[in-house]
Amino acid sequence: MVEGEQNYPWGKQGSKSAAARYAATTPGTDFKIDENERYAEMWMGTYPTTPSYVLATNELLQDVLDANREALIGQQVLDRFGTDLPFLPKILSMSKALPLQLHPNRDLAAKLHKEDPEKYGDTNHKPEIGLALSKFEAFAGFKQSKDIMALLQLEPLKEHLPEGDLTPEGLKTLCSDLLKLPEDKVGQIQSGLAQISKSEYGHQAYILDLLPRLQEQYSAEDNGTLVALICMNYLILQPGEAIYVPADGIHAWLSGDIVECMARSDNVLNVGFCPRADRDNIDLFTNTLTFKASSVQEMYLQPVPSDKSVRGKTVDYRPELSEFNLLKTSLAGPNDFDIVSPIQGPSIMIVTKGKARLTAAGKQVVDLDEGWVFFVGQGVEIKIEARTELEVYRAYVE
Ligand SMILES: [Zn+2]
Repeated sequence: MVEGEQNYPWGKQGSKSAAARYAATTPGTDFKIDENERYAEMWMGTYPTTPSYVLATNELLQDVLDANREALIGQQVLDRFGTDLPFLPKILSMSKALPLQLHPNRDLAAKLHKEDPEKYGDTNHKPEIGLALSKFEAFAGFKQSKDIMALLQLEPLKEHLPEGDLTPEGLKTLCSDLLKLPEDKVGQIQSGLAQISKSEYGHQAYILDLLPRLQEQYSAEDNGTLVALICMNYLILQPGEAIYVPADGIHAWLSGDIVECMARSDNVLNVGFCPRADRDNIDLFTNTLTFKASSVQEMYLQPVPSDKSVRGKTVDYRPELSEFNLLKTSLAGPNDFDIVSPIQGPSIMIVTKGKARLTAAGKQVVDLDEGWVFFVGQGVEIKIEARTELEVYRAYVE
């Protein structure tokens, strides 16, 4: 399959970007990496702005699915989700923070789409997962209130200290206030925070390392920096670890190469780590957000052994309340293999490491190589035999 590339200023440069490297390996495409360009995202699937093509025939994947719905998608998924692929997998390569954001829930998405269909192209919600291919840094969810309260005791933030405990309503007010602060006030607080000693931050001393990094990326007057450092969990994920952001969850990815999978939607509200002119309405943002503290551990999505894996080499990431799951097959090297029994729905597979041979439905044999992307129709058993150490991700629904 041939995938779509997206360039954003936060993408990694040239061949440092896994999104660009994977896209460039697909044989027979005219995509060449320009070392002066930044490559942020590679999209896989049928989303109309950045659709995938079938390599052998140059047909749009969407057209092939439309012509063979029952055979490729299957009645079960057609009944549940309609004729569009309900998920959208991507590779993201980030050299700096992406906008501080949330994705509207279904009710708000429908309302926004009605008011401004050009800006909000979808009526769907968009829960998402991010799986680290390299070290992956992220801000996601809200910290425990005791950690936020400890920071609000610091001199530059004292005026935001609530009376009594920090309730969900208080957290909402705090976020809204921080996001609405004028530039000069944001600058003052940031320079005040930079002057406080490490010991006063206790276990949150990482803030002193992240503050200058974010200031360099988005100026010393970006409101997003305050919300991210004061209110949000900061996570460092190692390759293979994953994070789940439910619909309405606050998040901002900071660095790394990841596999991302989300429900089919491109709606987003951005309020920080982007120019002021590009920011969405703060009240709309804070009225939509879920204000619930989560521990760092709660943000992780732990895989479970897949019941479709014959040899136990495939695990399943199963986010709650979403239109997709994600399988990961890991093989040690030559002679190692796994058989994944048929899935009753469509799936998209990307090889993120190594080479292998794939046998579909016991007869059709294809080579797998790093960066290659395949659509696998419903009801097809696949056998993957490694030629080298191998890692394959596969988004699916059934
Ligand atoms: Zn997002």
